[in-house]
Amino acid sequence: MKRVLSTLLVLVVILSMLAACGPTPTPEKVIVTVPVLQTVTVKETVPVVVTAVPEKPTEVTYPRNETLYVSGAAWGPPSDWNPFITWSKANTTGTIGLVYETLFLYDPLSDKMIPWLAESGKWVDADTYELKLRKGITWSDGQPMTAADVVFTYELGKKYAAIWFSPMWNYLKSATATSDYDITFEFTNPLYQEWDNNLYNIAIVPKHLWESRTEEQITAGANEKPVGSGAYLYETHSEDRNVWVRNENWWATKLLGMKPAPKRIVDMRFSSNNVALGAVVKGEVDLSNNFLPGIATLSEKGYVKTYFAGPPYMLSANTAVLFLNTTKKPMDDPAFRKALAFSINTGDIVNVAYAGLVKAANPTGLLPSLEKYVDKDVVAKLGFTFDTAKAKQILASAGYKDVNGDGFVEAPDGSKIELEVTCPFGWTDWMEAIKIIAKSAQAAGINLKDATPDYGAWNTALTTGTFDMTLNNWAGMSNTPWTLYNLLFRHPIQDIMGSGNFGRWNNQKMFDLVDKLAATPSSDEAGMKAVCSQIQELMLTEMPVIPLWYNGLWAQYSDAVWTNWPTESSNTPSRLPCTWSGYWQMGGLIMLTELKPAQ
Ligand code: MG
Repeated sequence: MKRVLSTLLVLVVILSMLAACGPTPTPEKVIVTVPVLQTVTVKETVPVVVTAVPEKPTEVTYPRNETLYVSGAAWGPPSDWNPFITWSKANTTGTIGLVYETLFLYDPLSDKMIPWLAESGKWVDADTYELKLRKGITWSDGQPMTAADVVFTYELGKKYAAIWFSPMWNYLKSATATSDYDITFEFTNPLYQEWDNNLYNIAIVPKHLWESRTEEQITAGANEKPVGSGAYLYETHSEDRNVWVRNENWWATKLLGMKPAPKRIVDMRFSSNNVALGAVVKGEVDLSNNFLPGIATLSEKGYVKTYFAGPPYMLSANTAVLFLNTTKKPMDDPAFRKALAFSINTGDIVNVAYAGLVKAANPTGLLPSLEKYVDKDVVAKLGFTFDTAKAKQILASAGYKDVNGDGFVEAPDGSKIELEVTCPFGWTDWMEAIKIIAKSAQAAGINLKDATPDYGAWNTALTTGTFDMTLNNWAGMSNTPWTLYNLLFRHPIQDIMGSGNFGRWNNQKMFDLVDKLAATPSSDEAGMKAVCSQIQELMLTEMPVIPLWYNGLWAQYSDAVWTNWPTESSNTPSRLPCTWSGYWQMGGLIMLTELKPAQ
């Protein structure tokens, strides 16, 4: 499969092939040549076919100075504009955020919920939440948005189990419009943490256009030509791009004085990360949210901008966690698990596998944006660090000894230990990471080898619980520590564990703590911290999962056409520079209103 960069410039050298982040064969070094920079050496993952690519005159071009080119969110061709198809299946980023909007936004950098379609919302008693919708919001077909649209949208979760927020109806009793702009939600035992999370993730749709649709159309339909309330409208798409055009009648321009700077946003899907790299260095792409392994050097030399000027360059977006299959020996033994945690050379993962582009994780797994929920005393007492001698000592005290002299410990009952740590084939950064995990565990006497099944086999092993240990990073930025702990300690244990607790750690005490956290009001920060402390103490004592590093909010940008990008500097906006699904409402949208055209 061969694809091309957009048209405008010069002769480009690109590599053919491959979906960004998809499965790729043997890692090897590749040289990418780009005009501005002589040579960029990056770690690449694809069969190398270097091809000179001619210009492609048929592609529509837009005035460059009013167009924002982005990449890094789409894994496949645009296929739907349906806000109820979850991010893992949808390829059209911006469907939520740019077209359909949420009642609130959430800013992880300031830990603030920002009223959006809602003017305000509050708990009037323990079981009643009252929400006031902003007046003056219109759908892009000119119809007003009212409380009936909000009730209709929320009730879709009650009608259809396939809607991702349908579990909310286990504790939400009713949603009632009491006026055109007022909605009362009544609950039985509300899960306050999840409720807040949903407030900035459920996209409101127009009742008048959705009420006659079938279940199939609502839960899985393509929803072409979407009518939303947001800052952009669908314009066109092709295999490798989706084009949004600014909604000149956007309510927030009138009501909040906010206007996104780019008239158009062209969301590009590149054939490989190297092509994306070439495009951003040449200023053809303004913001790339691709993972570009060689980017640290380019950032330091000023060819691209990153959020931080030095390591780790990127904000932290999610936690890479090593799940241990606690239903198998010896991962059922907390002493073994703890020894393993001390054996892992996370420093090498950060500095060698990622060349400084990521940060080591806090042992609690919580992202830096949720640091206030880390109990530092618990971490000081029970946290782990890379310490081979300590790992060996923990193994020895628990009865793990090398009785056959092969250099690896046997279990206390004398049985041989042979384990695998896995990740999907082609996820090259993780492939490097599991090599380091295996090698450092071996140094502590644990017979652990890395293995890379294809994605399908890996995913089956993950969800059916047949792996020994494996990496996962599904819990990303959130308003609440509950999101991470709900992933790590998902319960009850079922035949298929599709959304967390892949290692099937069956601990009722932990399950009760996670449930208690879920039911703690967000306004009760002290209460949340107290439950988090207990969770962290139990987690670090039992070590059923090992948080290792934070994957970055991969973002590299060019000042060629647009400036005033978010960075750590106080002179620039403080936002998440991100186009991934789920991130527009966590800062990406506001970033658009703060960009400035380059002189
Ligand atoms: Mg041995």
